[in-house]
Amino acid sequence: MFALTFDDGPGPDTSEVLDVLRLAGVRATFFLLGRNLEEAPWCGDPAKARALVLRAAREGHVLGNHTYSHLRPDRWPELAADLKRGEAVVRAVRAEAGLPDGPVPFRLPYGVRLVEQTMPSPAGTLNFVSLDPRLPVLASLGRAHLHWTSDFDDWLAKPGEGAKLAAKMSAHVDQCIGLGMDAVLDLHDSGTGSASGYQRRATVEAVRLFLAEAQRRKWRSFTIPQP
Ligand SMILES: [Zn+2]
Repeated sequence: MFALTFDDGPGPDTSEVLDVLRLAGVRATFFLLGRNLEEAPWCGDPAKARALVLRAAREGHVLGNHTYSHLRPDRWPELAADLKRGEAVVRAVRAEAGLPDGPVPFRLPYGVRLVEQTMPSPAGTLNFVSLDPRLPVLASLGRAHLHWTSDFDDWLAKPGEGAKLAAKMSAHVDQCIGLGMDAVLDLHDSGTGSASGYQRRATVEAVRLFLAEAQRRKWRSFTIPQP
């Protein structure tokens, strides 16, 4: 089985991602970026962003939180506030869609990382690498990070590279089948304001091709977290 997850949205290609999913009858999880929903810098029209997310909710997709601002891991002291700010935005749109209140699934920006830290010590400045310092912050908030079994650098793919991306996704599902695991695929339907922009043309095409392959191979889909 495979689960599709989309981070950083909404964005200019979210509508087409939703079209492709609807046509295939597959539900996914959208880890929304609060800023892209509430301020919508990718289109300058927050009402349009809101309508897209309401559509995703109506069509049965799971709405999760990916923080408000997508801060880098080394800004972990700011995580708690940014997580709560993003979560409030997701809760509001879920309420507007008429969904019952409940836990909001969460995914860390950049996933779990090793983070370099610098600390003054009597012997001079100490540099060290630690397992992601955001994990204890999540523990303190009673939240968990929903990771993936693979990402595909889809935010770097150029338009026209959808087939290559779809082949990587299918190869990953085959690899998971070999390991006796279900696959959780991490994709992106928008961006963070970085140089990679907001458009994800290759991702739309890759999802369309991958879902056709999944149907041929009789792979079934599920959503994370499972209801
Ligand atoms: Zn992200």
